[in-house]
Amino acid sequence: SSFEEAKLPDEVLQCCKSFSKPSPIQSHAWPYLLDGRDFIGIAATGSGKTLAFGIPALMHIRHSVNQKTTRRVNPLCLVLSPTRELAQQIADVLCEAGKSCGARSVCLYGGTSKGPQISALKAGVDIVIGTPGRLKDLMEMGFCRLQEVSYVVLDEADRMLDMGFEPEVRSILSQTCSVRQMVMFSATWPSSVHQLAQEFMDPNPVKV
Ligand code: AMP
Repeated sequence: SSFEEAKLPDEVLQCCKSFSKPSPIQSHAWPYLLDGRDFIGIAATGSGKTLAFGIPALMHIRHSVNQKTTRRVNPLCLVLSPTRELAQQIADVLCEAGKSCGARSVCLYGGTSKGPQISALKAGVDIVIGTPGRLKDLMEMGFCRLQEVSYVVLDEADRMLDMGFEPEVRSILSQTCSVRQMVMFSATWPSSVHQLAQEFMDPNPVKV
């Protein structure tokens, strides 16, 4: 498969310019995600999974923004990550990938002051990448409203639950838009992750 086959606009594929072809997880995920399906990927880091869910996130924003003329304030896409390091890694990729199409990303994580994160949220954001604890704090303080989030990614879902974030994850998911597309990546598939997928995803998600 090739990038041409994906039939994506140039401005969205700008970030893939240095790659010769989509990675396997990208060529598997893109057709389903661009079609609006829920998707479960059992994939390890290094597989190119960030752009596997990131490119469809940019397309999701393009579709939504085309329907409105005003600049949005609340995010449309949410990526939940278990750790600050992973969240920052994802945010770096999505900030860069979003530049060519004007998609704004902000990364929210604990262990650092809230001020700059709050300022970024106030300026308006399309994609929030965050760890569950800090995100929930900023939601409770009223700085991050998720009711327009209609594209949600749970990255490293198994690790997120292992770390005890299940209550936060559930509470966060329940505040996103009820009509939403969901993507879950996990290295393993324990019953806790299965349960979460059953509760929050379509009855028949694509599993790769
Ligand atoms: P990830 O699994 O998302 O952390 O990506 C791992 C690495 O693969 C990153 O350094 C990406 O820049 C790189 N990458 C992503 N997509 C491709 C691709 N289609 N071809 C080659 N490398 C890629």
